[in-house]
Amino acid sequence: MDHRVLSRLAAPAVAALLALTTGCTGETVQGRPGASGVRDPFFPKAGNGGYQVEHYSLDLDYDPADGQLHATAVITARAEQGLSSFNLDLSGLEVEGVSVQGEGARFNRTGNELTVRPAEDLERGEVFRTEVDYSGRPKAVTDPDGSEEGWIVTPGGKGAVGVGEPVGSMAWFPGNHHPSDKATYDITVTVPRGYEAVSNGELRSRTEEGDGRTAFAWHSAEPMASYLATVAVGKFEVTTGRTASGIPVYTAVSPGEAAASEPVLARLPEMVEWGIGRFGPYPFSATGAIVLPAHSLGYALETQTRPVFPGAPGSEELVLHELAHQWFGDSVSPKSWKDMWLNEGFATYAEWLWSEDHGGPSAQQHFDAYVAGDTRVDGEAGSDWGAFPPAAPRNPKEISASPVYGRGAMVLQRVRQEVGDAKFFALVRGWAADHRHGNASTADFTAYAEEKTGRDLTEVWDVWLYGKDRPKAPKAPKDAKASAAP
Ligand SMILES: [Zn+2]
Repeated sequence: MDHRVLSRLAAPAVAALLALTTGCTGETVQGRPGASGVRDPFFPKAGNGGYQVEHYSLDLDYDPADGQLHATAVITARAEQGLSSFNLDLSGLEVEGVSVQGEGARFNRTGNELTVRPAEDLERGEVFRTEVDYSGRPKAVTDPDGSEEGWIVTPGGKGAVGVGEPVGSMAWFPGNHHPSDKATYDITVTVPRGYEAVSNGELRSRTEEGDGRTAFAWHSAEPMASYLATVAVGKFEVTTGRTASGIPVYTAVSPGEAAASEPVLARLPEMVEWGIGRFGPYPFSATGAIVLPAHSLGYALETQTRPVFPGAPGSEELVLHELAHQWFGDSVSPKSWKDMWLNEGFATYAEWLWSEDHGGPSAQQHFDAYVAGDTRVDGEAGSDWGAFPPAAPRNPKEISASPVYGRGAMVLQRVRQEVGDAKFFALVRGWAADHRHGNASTADFTAYAEEKTGRDLTEVWDVWLYGKDRPKAPKAPKDAKASAAP
């Protein structure tokens, strides 16, 4: 039976058919519906309960001329309970058909939830394959803080980019869109000849189709949270190479941004090697960058292996920040969106360390500049980093606000002040190694830090991480006294 035909039957007819089928099979598994969200404190409908995805295979056919996407998503997942139905997150677009384990499945849509009812209930522990055929003109999603993500047509209309932090990936593929469910990916993008299509991981093949189109097959061998998936379609100048330790580099730059990008991107391989020295082994099998036409987005994003920049990166620190996320955020991902400071505090702290190691102000000097609001040392030091504690943003608008970044970095410097350099850098490297390709929460971090350093850090957590008030001038760092300026 063609699953598309079944899925288009009127619901009562299908219900009758299913009742009949169930009645005949005898040993039917008794499943129940999977939850429509994973109870994220800020995005309760993000992600879905009852299963974990192992692999996404996305086949995207996109034409920049009319903005139309024709796509198939094959999602391999493991049931964590008996399932009579389960949800995928998908925003907009038309679903043409769904099958589970090769059999047509009923589905319906409410808001951003696509509910799939397999012909037979799934057993707990069962690995199952869901295929979704869908099409339409994917759209942008507006975040609670007003920024745009999802599918963005780049200025001039000659291309597009898919970006997903925190929930924008549902605008271009159905999935379990919460960082707590990481999976491997194959993303194949077919575009008209003359366009490039760039995504995460390694380019496995580039095939000229007979019909004037080119298919780019990208493979992500390491687990990825869906908000870090990306596809960029457009005219790009592609540069490939390797870092000193052999990590393949693939950089795609919009031609208008090439000259301005060149000096900063030339240092990308060195930055990756510096990160290896500071944070431990690079977590992925590829690196690079995607530079979009200017003003494509209001932000840069640490999309896995290949961060996107909205125009030529304005500074070394910006590129370094997104690369540092490969360890902190991409490899060690947050358990919930409330844990965002684990991403941004570390990436901001990495900027301070890069500065310290390259003749700029030390991390302690950045910290002091924040305390004093001295923007001559650090341009962000005047931000309202005391507005709320980094581990406790009050609403989804605040997960990308300055305390999550600057004060998150200050938390790390406070830990370094307490435990000294040797224990601090062992902690940072251990954190990246022990949670590699996994997820972690703030509570995981504080427990790990105390265990790893053998120190009671309650005061740091209470005042800097969770304290509602803007912390007062910290006590003088123990090992900085000798070098303090007269
Ligand atoms: Zn960041």
